[in-house]
Amino acid sequence: MSPSRALIVSVVMLLAACSSSTPEQTLVREAADALGGAQRITAVNTLVLAGEGTHYNLGQDLRPDARGQTFTVSAWRRAIDLAKGAWRTELTRTPDFTYFQGQGAQQQVQGFGGGVAYNVTPAGAASRAPDAVAAERRAEFYHHPVVAVRAALAESVQLGGSRGDGNETLLDVTTGDGQRFTLAFDRVSKLPTRVLTAGEHTNLGDITLSTTFEDYQDADGLKLPARLTTRVDEFATAEYRIGTHGVNEDAGNLGAPADAAAQPAVSAAAPANVTGESLGRNVWLLAGQSHHSVLVGFKDHGVLIEAPQHDTRTLAVIAKARELLGDKPLTTLVITHHHFDHTGGLRAAVAEGLKVITHDGNQPFVERMAERPHTRAPDHLAQNPKEPDIGRVGSGLTLEDETMTLQLLPVSGPHSETMLVAWLPRDRLLVQADVYSPGSAVHSFAGKFLEDVRALRLSPVRIVPLHGAVVPFAQFVRDAGG
Ligand SMILES: [Zn+2]
Repeated sequence: MSPSRALIVSVVMLLAACSSSTPEQTLVREAADALGGAQRITAVNTLVLAGEGTHYNLGQDLRPDARGQTFTVSAWRRAIDLAKGAWRTELTRTPDFTYFQGQGAQQQVQGFGGGVAYNVTPAGAASRAPDAVAAERRAEFYHHPVVAVRAALAESVQLGGSRGDGNETLLDVTTGDGQRFTLAFDRVSKLPTRVLTAGEHTNLGDITLSTTFEDYQDADGLKLPARLTTRVDEFATAEYRIGTHGVNEDAGNLGAPADAAAQPAVSAAAPANVTGESLGRNVWLLAGQSHHSVLVGFKDHGVLIEAPQHDTRTLAVIAKARELLGDKPLTTLVITHHHFDHTGGLRAAVAEGLKVITHDGNQPFVERMAERPHTRAPDHLAQNPKEPDIGRVGSGLTLEDETMTLQLLPVSGPHSETMLVAWLPRDRLLVQADVYSPGSAVHSFAGKFLEDVRALRLSPVRIVPLHGAVVPFAQFVRDAGG
């Protein structure tokens, strides 16, 4: 056969193959062929992946831009039931840093099946995760190339939006039951490179959850990735190196344990309970749940320390603060550190018109958090847009009038390098978050914090923690081993 004739024959064959396919279907078919063929993919009922990996500490690291804190993940096993849309991951993770409260290795069991997301404790107690978690885990089911391409091959699927992006081609997939994700393929090998899902996050707002597939290897007539990396936007959250791929092994029942399935679905944050305990004239502890705030009243205005968790908590804290202040306006928010659980209400405070005072190292973080879009689940700031007014503490900032003095002091430590403590000299109260939580089994950071208190020449009567009860300074010294 002459070269030109061979070309004509192959073009005719290609046209025949494509005559009933859209370009999107052709993309999926090519990806299926690269993975081992559509027939082989649709014959996969279960996948049992085992290996090890690394978890990162998004939102809880030493500084807002730090990525150095990791957990070593061992005994990682992820089982997927493709027909039932269920999966379960079991792992052990050990922090590679001085962990909050000094915990060692943690075992985790997380799963999704029958529409229910669940967690199981090492002691075997199963609980149902909230609806927001279930939505993420339902999406995560598709974050494997075999599952995603199998879904894209289904008759009920809608494919659209194919586009090029560098070395990848992207394609939007909507499954028969309404799940949407974007599948990316390598232009040359046609192998899936990533699955991306649109999500939402209390602090970050609109996010893209993605899993990247690398290091494809032969396994049971398929090509399967031996390396998975999960991300929230550009931030890596986990990496897994897969040692064994079990195809159509008995994966067991991956659905929710009966205990978890019987629990009611939780669709919103629990109602806030905010108490107002006086700690001295015009100083109140706003407690009632896991994360506390402190209100400091000046002659003609009030300053709030900490806007934790989410809109629900922080808006209730602000309402309580205004009630306690009476006619005086609440003007200012102080954030102790950048950790997500302590800044989940930052945006609500900006929307309420509070100026935000923070450690210099957190200023870009506060700006970024305030400007991030929250369009999928509009929060209080999305509904009441405002520019943040940010003040920095420098080497120390004193807020005072004739009735009150509040000193904000940077304290760099193994919990956060961009941390502030608040000192109220009149009442000798020292307000701090996370470096000492009375009642904890272990006090990993208390020794360093005691050194800081002595270096600052502070002489507190009481420590006011943003987790746990207010305690005499002497108890802190004992817990710190000082
Ligand atoms: Zn923290």
